[in-house]
Amino acid sequence: MTQTVISERVAALGYDYGGQAALRVAECNLCESREHAVEVAERDRYGYPATFVVCRRCGLGYLCPRLSATQYAHFYSEIYRPLVSAYHGRRIDAETVQLEQRDYSAGLAAFLLPLLPSSPRTILDIGGSTGVVASVLAARSNARATVLDPSPDELAVARAGGMETIAGLVEDFDPGERSWDLVLLCQTIDHLLDVRGTLAALRRMTAAGGRAFVDIVDVDVLVDRTGDIERAVKIDHPYYLTRSTAAALFTLTGFTIVAERLTDDGHRGFVLAQGPAGEPNWPALAASAAQFVANVS
Ligand SMILES: [Zn+2]
Repeated sequence: MTQTVISERVAALGYDYGGQAALRVAECNLCESREHAVEVAERDRYGYPATFVVCRRCGLGYLCPRLSATQYAHFYSEIYRPLVSAYHGRRIDAETVQLEQRDYSAGLAAFLLPLLPSSPRTILDIGGSTGVVASVLAARSNARATVLDPSPDELAVARAGGMETIAGLVEDFDPGERSWDLVLLCQTIDHLLDVRGTLAALRRMTAAGGRAFVDIVDVDVLVDRTGDIERAVKIDHPYYLTRSTAAALFTLTGFTIVAERLTDDGHRGFVLAQGPAGEPNWPALAASAAQFVANVS
C-alpha cells in the first residue's frame, strides 16, 4: 500500500492533530531532565505533524507537544479505531481486536505461566479492555480476574464474562491496600501519559512474591526493521521505549527483570519481580541515547 493511499484515507477522517496538540511536556518522564530533549522527527506514520523528541540524557522518546489527557480521551473514543482502520485498510473495531487478543493471550499464557513461582490466585489486567487476556490467563491458572479500563462498553463485556471490573485510567486508580498476585500491563505502556508513575503504582499493586508483566513496542527494533523513525512514530503513542529505557524505568521503580521475550511484531515483554529501587546507569543510557539519535537522524 502506498503512503499516498494511506494519507488520503487518513485525511478523509478530517482529524486536525496539528491544531490540537499543544501541551508542552516540561520534563523527561524517565530522568526528569528539563533540558535534554532533541527533535528527531516531525511527522508520524499517518502523516500528522507530530514532533518526536529524544532525551539525550536517558534516551526516552516522546511526543512534544502532545495532546492533553482530555484530548486523548476524545481521541480514543472517536478517532483511534477509525484511524487505525484507515491506516491498515481494513476494519479494526472491538470485535476484531478481541480476535487479535485471543491469539496474543494464547502466546502470553504459554510464555508467562510456566515462569511464575506459583499459580496466581488473583490477576489484574490494566487497560484490559473486554477481558480477553485476563480471562485466558485466569482460566488456565484458576485465578480470579480483575480488569481495569476506561471504556464502559468494553468493561461490560468483561463483567458479563464473570470478571470484576474497575472503570478508569490507571493514572487515577487508587487501589488502597489491595494487591494482586499477577499484574498485567499488555500493549498499553506506550499509550500512557505517565509511564514512570504508572510503573511505581504497578509495583505497589503487585503482591509480595508476585509478578508483573509489561510489554513495550521496542522502537530500536522498529527502526532497525523499517529504517525510518517516522514509520515508528504514531500520535496514539505518547512514549517510545527501548530495552535500555524500559530496564531503567524498572530499576527506578523497584522492579527486577526475571525473564523477557521479543515477539515477531516488535513487542518486547518483561516478567518482573519486586526488587530494590535504585539508580540506573546514566552514562550508559546517555551513550545509548546518542547512538539512537545518530541512527534515526
Ligand atoms: Zn531523560
